[in-house]
Order: sequence, then C-alpha cells, then structure tokens
Amino acid sequence: MKLKSLTISGFKSFADKTKIDFFEGITGIVGPNGSGKSNIIEALQWVLGEQSAKNLRGGKMNDVIFAGSQTRSPLNRAEVELVLDNSDRFLAIATDEVAITRRIYRNGDSEYLINHNRVRLRDISDLFIDTGLGKESFSIISQGKVEAIFNSKPLDRRMYIEEVAGVLKYKKEKQQAENK
Ligand code: ATP
Ligand code: MG
Repeated sequence: MKLKSLTISGFKSFADKTKIDFFEGITGIVGPNGSGKSNIIEALQWVLGEQSAKNLRGGKMNDVIFAGSQTRSPLNRAEVELVLDNSDRFLAIATDEVAITRRIYRNGDSEYLINHNRVRLRDISDLFIDTGLGKESFSIISQGKVEAIFNSKPLDRRMYIEEVAGVLKYKKEKQQAENK
C-alpha cells in the first residue's frame, strides 16, 4: 500500500484545491515558516479520522475550514481526499485504488466516503486499524510526540505497543461484542 495523492480544498491555509502527487521513494515538503507544511500533514491525519481538534492545533473541529485572509473570504466547507495504491490488497477492499474522503461544513456536519460512497467514521477506522496508518499509530510523529511517548503512563504506552503488534483490532471487537 502506498500513498498516491492528497487533494486538499478549503482546509486550513489551502483555500484553493491543491493536489499533491506522491511518487516512488521519499517525499520531502519544504517551505518557509507558516507556508502550510504542517497543515498538509494535518490534512492527512484528518482524512484518516482524527477526532481531536486539539491534535490539529484547533479549538473546535470546524476551525479546520479556511478562515479567510486579507484578500479572501472565509469558506464554508473543507474537503480532503487521500488516494492509496491498493494493488497489493493490503486494505480489505477489492479495488486497486482506494479513495478516502472527509468533508466538514461550518454547521459542523461531516461526511466520510470510501471510493466516493458515503460511509460511517467507524468504517474508516476499521479499514485502517492495525495497518500502521491508523490515527493511533506511529505513522505520523509530530513535534513533541516523541517525548510524549517516552513520558506516557505505562497503560498509554501499552496501547502504542498493542497498535504496533496488531492486537488493538481484536480488543476493540471484544469490547464491542461485550457491549451488545
Ligand atoms: P513552520 O515551518 O513554522 O512549522 P508550516 O509550514 O508548518 O510552518 P503551518 O503551521 O502548516 O506552517 O501553517 C500555518 C499557517 O496556516 C498560518 O499562517 C495560519 O494562519 C494558517 N492557517 C491555519 N488554520 C487556518 C485556517 N483555518 N484558515 C486559514 N489559514 C489557516
Ligand atoms: Mg510546521
């Protein structure tokens, strides 16, 4: 499984629709302070289902919508689409490409889509759990996170280890079964 592209529109500083294509090898993002590098990573985190506005440096979730600038009015909707190469069927979906889309409106309504079909947030979480790309994984390590992992309480640290080992999925399924 590989990232193919990330399309950002109306999310944080990306007022205009911006598509980033990923090629073979490592991709580096460079630019001056405040140019939106971290916003790109947060767009990736958000489309994968991030539920904490704080983790995205905001107060409430619709703070991710473009808030306007000196020359542009605020927008009413943010949308991010991530396209993954799934030709190896790493994700449990029978298509060579998987498109994950998330939208949010000013009134707080949000939508999640897999291959352009409306789904629940849970379907997105289930798809990525134990793949190493889920929101509790190590695939995104932000400034300060390294320290947070080392300073975390034993139980929290255990959760990171369980995610890496791939047992979180079974724990969540067990919990859901017990709650029924
Ligand atoms: P650094 O090199 O300092 O880490 P960076 O390239 O990572 O910078 P970001 O933190 O991604 O920069 O971008 C910050 C910019 O995004 C700020 O100018 C901020 O005003 C803008 N921004 C954040 N949220 C919004 C929003 N909702 N609407 C418009 N602009 C936003
Ligand atoms: Mg940054």
